[in-house]
Amino acid sequence: MIKVSLISLGCAKNLVDSEIMVGHLHKAGMAVVPDAEKADVVIVNTCSFIDSSKEESIGHILEVHQNRGLRKRRKEQKLIVAGCMSQRFSKDLSGELTHEVDAFIGLDQVTQVAPIIEQIYEKERGKNPTPDNFVTAKSTYIPDYDTPRFRLTPRHFAYIKIAEGCNHPCTFCIIPQIRGRHRSRTVESVVAEARQLVAEGVREINLISQDTTFFGMDTWEQRPNSRTPVDSTRGTALTTLLRQLNAIEGDFWIRLLYTHPAHWSDELIRTIAECPKVARYIDIPLQHISDAMLGRMQRETSGEYIRNLIGRIRAGIPGIAIRTTFIVGFPAETDADVDELCGFISETKFERLGVFRYSQEEGTRAAKMDDQLPSKVKEARWHRTMALQKEIASEVSASYVGRKLRVLVEEPGVARGEADAPDIDGRVYVPRSLPVGEFAEVTITGYRDYDLLALPAGQQPAEYKVARQAQ
Ligand code: SF4
Repeated sequence: MIKVSLISLGCAKNLVDSEIMVGHLHKAGMAVVPDAEKADVVIVNTCSFIDSSKEESIGHILEVHQNRGLRKRRKEQKLIVAGCMSQRFSKDLSGELTHEVDAFIGLDQVTQVAPIIEQIYEKERGKNPTPDNFVTAKSTYIPDYDTPRFRLTPRHFAYIKIAEGCNHPCTFCIIPQIRGRHRSRTVESVVAEARQLVAEGVREINLISQDTTFFGMDTWEQRPNSRTPVDSTRGTALTTLLRQLNAIEGDFWIRLLYTHPAHWSDELIRTIAECPKVARYIDIPLQHISDAMLGRMQRETSGEYIRNLIGRIRAGIPGIAIRTTFIVGFPAETDADVDELCGFISETKFERLGVFRYSQEEGTRAAKMDDQLPSKVKEARWHRTMALQKEIASEVSASYVGRKLRVLVEEPGVARGEADAPDIDGRVYVPRSLPVGEFAEVTITGYRDYDLLALPAGQQPAEYKVARQAQ
């Protein structure tokens, strides 16, 4: 039996691709092993978001290659490179890594991984002269509810990829060139998958795609102008999906990740407010607030639009926690732009915030713009915004003390609340006795920066101290 090990890098969208590969390997009768050293084939599922992601991916490829060279027994181990970096750069890489890599596969070959492995072995036996590059130029694949998939997340939470690709023109981003045009799954397909996951005991379903708010809109006859308020009477939309997911019986959260501000509507705000299973949490990358920067980034939004939208979301969904990301150091960004951004962060007090230093990515329009800023300027602006957010995060954490929260226990002693997405946000430290993978009602008793401390509801803080000491 062929043993395969898979190294999954990058975001949750890539993780779902890894899960689909593992599902197809199992279906083909291959064994998937956690330890690369024990595998006949190692797949590195790469990320290509920014330069540091590419460097990390190359580092893993070279490490796997070096290790198989070190162990005589494993010299025959095969190495396959998959994922975003393979999709985008396989032509260049297959020249540079010709001795290291046996096959490059693209995003549309995730379901073909088993036959490709068979072909590599056939080629070795001299039977079939296959190429080492299987990547097709444009990515068009989208999984369905019955696509073989083996979940790599803990039993209690799962990702569902509701769409793939992106139609936005953001000048700093390479993703549309890698993942192709936006294509949505059907509502029925996503609901069937969610039903199955809930039946398996999943307590949190995280909806992901490049832009979850564009869900369904690619199927509308007339493509909407992104500034036009949207409503589901024009066709299937995210609101249709959320209402149907909310109607599935069971005790679980639905979490909305990667929403684009241009496609929010009052109907979406109302839908979230009216669907109790949808977590009071939204992830809405804003990238900047200055009109000059939003224009150069081609974010299809303006400062006024964003301020107004955040106001409507806060008013329409009481208790909502907002996560956003900003980019500092974009070409031609001025001190005044950063002042405006800091003012906006101070006013809005985002519950969760990430800041990226702008990265000049090959193949993007922003990379060719004049007025690229020196890295020390980007660094200083990043430190300024992050220091500001650290103070705000402490204020936000302090505001939770004394409140009752429902949390999902992730591992012994560690849980997450509705305001914490997996792998990105803070934690809630709880007594180790709370059952893993289940919801628990707790009272927040303290905090440390981004993380909260809690006791089961009704328990006294003194008992909490005892519980913590016993851990
Ligand atoms: S919305 Fe913009 S930043 Fe996000 S994937 Fe699409 S092009 Fe990239």
